Parts: sequence; C-alpha cells; structure tokens
Amino acid sequence: MRHKRRVLVVGGGIAGMATTLMLRRAGHTVRLIDLDPGWRVYGAGITITGPTLRAMKQLGIYDEVAAQAYIGHGIRVCDIHGRFLHEVPTPISPTAGVEGCGGIMRPALHKILSAQVLASGAEVGLGLTVEAVKDLEQGAQVSFSDGTEADFDLVVGADGLYSRVRSLLFPEAEKPRYMGQYVWRTVAPRPPGLNQRHFFLGGPHKVGLTPVSADSMYMFLLETCEGRDHVKDVDLAPTLSNLLQSYGGPLQAIREGLSQESAVIVRPLEAFRLPQPWSRGHVQLIGDAAHPTTPQLASGAGLAIEDALVLAAELDVADSVPEALHNFMRRRHERCQLVVESSFEIGDKERSGASSAEQTAILARSLSALAEEI
Ligand SMILES: Cc1cc2nc3c(=O)[nH]c(=O)nc-3n(C[C@H](O)[C@H](O)[C@H](O)COP(=O)(O)OP(=O)(O)OC[C@H]3O[C@@H](n4cnc5c(N)ncnc54)[C@H](O)[C@@H]3O)c2cc1C
Repeated sequence: MRHKRRVLVVGGGIAGMATTLMLRRAGHTVRLIDLDPGWRVYGAGITITGPTLRAMKQLGIYDEVAAQAYIGHGIRVCDIHGRFLHEVPTPISPTAGVEGCGGIMRPALHKILSAQVLASGAEVGLGLTVEAVKDLEQGAQVSFSDGTEADFDLVVGADGLYSRVRSLLFPEAEKPRYMGQYVWRTVAPRPPGLNQRHFFLGGPHKVGLTPVSADSMYMFLLETCEGRDHVKDVDLAPTLSNLLQSYGGPLQAIREGLSQESAVIVRPLEAFRLPQPWSRGHVQLIGDAAHPTTPQLASGAGLAIEDALVLAAELDVADSVPEALHNFMRRRHERCQLVVESSFEIGDKERSGASSAEQTAILARSLSALAEEI
C-alpha cells in the first residue's frame, strides 16, 4: 500500500461493511457509521449468484457463508402449476472455485459481515449520519449529526437507495421512482427434494423460490400494479394468499401454510439511473447509493461487494484518491450498468406479460456476461 488513508464509510450495509473489511485489511484507518442505532436488517432471504459467491470468496467470507447458506446451480423454470419447462444455467468462470448460485437469510449474512467488521479494528458509530460534506484540496471535511466534525482523505457513501451522501453530492440528481411492481416476500419450510432456485412464469405474477438453508427457503412474488395503499399487518398474509390463488406445486403448499403468524413483507420496487461519475472530489458513492437496481438479476449484493474489492485495489495502486476514484469508475461503470439495464428490461417484460422464453433469454444472457472475471 502506498498511502495510509483515513476513510469514512457512511452506511453499514453489504457495500459499507465489505468496503470496511477490505480497507482495514490494507491498513487504512476506517470509521463506519450507520443511521440505524440497532444496525438491523430485514428478515428476508437473499439470492446469491455465482459472481456474488466469487466476490464473497475474494472478500474472505465464502466458507462462513457456505456453511449456513444453500449453494447450488441452475434455475428451474416452471409454469404456474409447478410443471417443469426448462432450466436456466447459472454459469461462473471455472477459475472462481465456486458454484453457480445460492441463497442465504439476510440476517445471517449481516451477522457474518458485522462480526468481521467489529473484529477488524474499524471504529463503528451507530445512530449517526452526515449533515454536510465539504470538499477540501486534500480530502473532505465532514459534519456529523451529533454535532462533531472531522477530516478524512476519502468519504465512501454506501448508504443505499435513499443515500444522504448522494443528495449532498448531487442535489440535482433524479430521485428513486416507483418501477411499477411490488415485491412480496415470505420464508417457508424447504420441502425435501427442492434443491434449486425456481421461477414460476406465465401467470399473473412472477413468482420465485430460493432455498436459503438446509431447511428453509424464501418466496418472492412480483405484483404489477399502478400503486398500492399501505397494507396493514393483519392483511399481509391474506393478500399474499389471494395473489397466489392460481399457482400450484410448491406454491400451493406455501399458500396453504400462510397465517397471521407468517412473516410476510411487501415493498415497492424503486430505482433510477445515476449518470457517471459517481464521485465528486474525495467522495465516492458505491452499492445501491450509486447504482440502484430492481432485483431481477439478484446481483445487487454482488455488485456491492465487487465495488469494495475494486475500490480497495485502486486505492492501493493510485498516487492520489481522485486518481483511484477515476480508475474505480472506469472499471465499474459498464458492469453495473449491465445489471441495472438488464434488470429494468426484464421488469418491462414481466409487466407487459411477455413470454417466459423472452424473460429468461435476457436473464441467461446477462448471467453469462456477469460470469466473466471482473
Ligand atoms: C426487494 C429486494 C430484493 C432484493 N433481492 C436481492 C437478491 O436476492 N440478491 C441480491 O444480490 N440483491 C438483492 N437486492 C439488492 C440488494 O439488497 C442491494 O443491492 C444491496 O443490499 C445493496 O447494499 P448497500 O450496502 O449498497 O445498501 P443497503 O443494503 O441499503 O445498506 C445501506 C445502509 O446504509 C444505512 N444508511 C441509510 N441511510 C443512511 C444515512 N443517511 N447515514 C448513515 N447510514 C445510512 C442503512 O441503515 C443501511 O445499513 C434486492 C433489493 C430489493 C429492494
């Protein structure tokens, strides 16, 4: 490492935690802050692609993830009755030494990452955000919400879709907008023999299953609608049950198992395109703060970890922070754009009721491109 930098990471999600780990390993001083005093995460499952597993391996968390997660390959595409149609391959470069896909509960992944962050020597501040960032010739001066101020060589905005750092940096930028779909999610027992990710296509909604451990799986359902009033907790399970009405196979069992005790969550899909560069001066946006996407390729977590790997590598070789940020942008833009544009394209197809072959063709093409080494 050429220079030991003082870095502020804003946001302790996947991007911020991965960045903290990589920068601490390289010997930089890191302060990580998160707005949430409880540093909590949704109790939902997350699908992991082969490229995400490869990035996890490079981050040094693969073995811990694999011990708790589902790891497998391929996506089984079925009709709404659960009848097998065809399989979408989940390729990954052979040198990666990982399988093609997987799934894990978000809290399990958060626990693995946050434990490593706490052990890394980073200073972690919770219930804290930034009020202002002033670019200096050699760094950035940050005012915090607790009234304190400090100077850093680099500020990393990893504070997600509604990034405060982004709004301070680019007040003129577009705001996240509704993408025409709500996503419903629940976790269910994993039946014996259900050993792959599943899509159920050709019905009123796109529905998918991903195993997340030896005995559980999560289901998502993408509902196309103009918008929705707030769904009361008491109405979550009955509404999801209605949406699943015409589906058979394993989805019928999930529907029949839904009750007031079921953990059902629903949220609108929101995103937008932030033009490059995703940095100004000594401040860099990464993860969803820089390239928010809809989840059709299940690649947001992988992109977030890759951002951390590339940022740390570029800081290591550059003579200055702005040079590192310039090189980071050069390496990341096209790949992140591929995920965002392909996800939006698949979402368009889903909303217009395009055939399952049309939807999965874009998926297969994108997964194949992402399998290449970064
Ligand atoms: C419904 C849905 C399903 C998804 N499914 C998948 C999937 O299956 N696979 C996949 O790879 N990706 C998936 N994604 C995308 C993935 O969740 C994100 O790309 C990923 O979590 C991005 O990580 P991040 O760290 O950039 O942002 P986040 O995970 O949003 O983390 C941001 C962090 O910043 C903190 N923060 C927010 N504001 C501030 C502030 N002002 N100051 C300080 N801290 C702040 C938050 O508390 C949070 O801890 C999905 C996304 C959605 C919406």
